[in-house]
Amino acid sequence: MSTIRKQTSMVTHKECTERFSSLQTETAKRGWLTADSQFPVRITRSWYHRIQSLSDPLAKQVFPQPTEMQERVQTDALQNPVGELDKQPVPFVVQKHANRALLLVSRKCHLHCRYCFRRTLDDLIEPTQEELDKAIDYILSSGVEEVILSGGDPLFLNNDRLFGILERLVSIPTIRIHTRAPITFPSRVNVGLVEVLGQYSNLWVIVHCNHVQELNTEVVEGLQRLRVSGIPLLNQSVLLKGVNDDSDVLADLCRRLVRIGVFPYYLHHTDRVQGAEDFFVTLADGLQIYLALEQKVSGLALPKYVIDAPDGSGKVPVERYVLG
Ligand code: SF4
Repeated sequence: MSTIRKQTSMVTHKECTERFSSLQTETAKRGWLTADSQFPVRITRSWYHRIQSLSDPLAKQVFPQPTEMQERVQTDALQNPVGELDKQPVPFVVQKHANRALLLVSRKCHLHCRYCFRRTLDDLIEPTQEELDKAIDYILSSGVEEVILSGGDPLFLNNDRLFGILERLVSIPTIRIHTRAPITFPSRVNVGLVEVLGQYSNLWVIVHCNHVQELNTEVVEGLQRLRVSGIPLLNQSVLLKGVNDDSDVLADLCRRLVRIGVFPYYLHHTDRVQGAEDFFVTLADGLQIYLALEQKVSGLALPKYVIDAPDGSGKVPVERYVLG
C-alpha cells in the first residue's frame, strides 16, 4: 500500500464541512481545530461512506466531540488510564504479566478513534528497525508464551515489514495481532496480507468493532478472507456512551459477529482518557447494560465485560473490580 493511497483514502475537513452544514459555523471550525491540534482528526473514506448522519454511532467515534473542542478543564480523566507507562521494560514493549507481552510495532492508525487511550502516540515518530529489533530481542528472551502485536495499528505496516516481525517471533507459541484496520480500512485486507498471515498456524487476529453499522459488505468480505485462510478471528469492543451503551445495540453487534465467524471476546469498560470524557459510562450503568445483554444473547455471543485497571494490573472482570 503506497503513501499516496493512504493519503487519498482519508477525507478532509473541507469535505466534512461541505457535507454537514452544522460543521460550517465559526464555533464548529474553531472547535475542530482545537481537537485536531490535540489528536489529529483522521477518517478513512470507507468509514466516512458508512456514516449516515452526524449523530450516528460511526460519526461520534471519529468527529471531535464537545468536550475536546473546548479548552482543557479539570475532569476525572486520568493521565495514565490503563497504567501502561510504568510497565515498559524496554521501549515498545508493555508487559503486565509474566506469560505475555505487548509489542508496539507502529504508532500510527488509519483512522483515529476519539476515545483512544494511546492518543498521544501519533505525535511521535515510528520505531526504527533497530528499536524494534531490541524490543523483539527482549520478548524472545523473556520466555513469554504469548506476544500481542499492537500499536497504533500493526496493519499500518506494509506486508514486508509485518512479515519480518512475524518471522522473528514465530517460535512464540501464540502470536496475536490487535488491529482495527479490517474494520476502518477494509481494503488493507488484500491478497498479499492474507497470504502473509495465513502462513502462521499460531496466529490469531483480534479486531475492534463497536457497532453493527461498522460491518458493511466490504468489511465482512475482508474478514471472510482472513477466516477462509484459517486465521481465528475475535473481536473486542469498547463500551461508549452514545455509541453502544445499550444492550439491544450490543446484542445486535454480538449476534452479527457470531454469524460472520468472529467471536465476541471482550467488551471493555470505557478507559478514563483525557479528551474522551463524552464517551464515559459509569461502572453502575455498564454493569446494568451487561446484565441485560446476558439475557439477550447465547453464551457464544456474550463477550467478557472487563476493565483495564488504572493501576496497571491488567484486565479484570468489571463485576470483580466493583466488588473489590
Ligand atoms: S485503532 Fe485503536 S489504537 Fe488506533 S486510534 Fe483507534 S483505538 Fe486507538
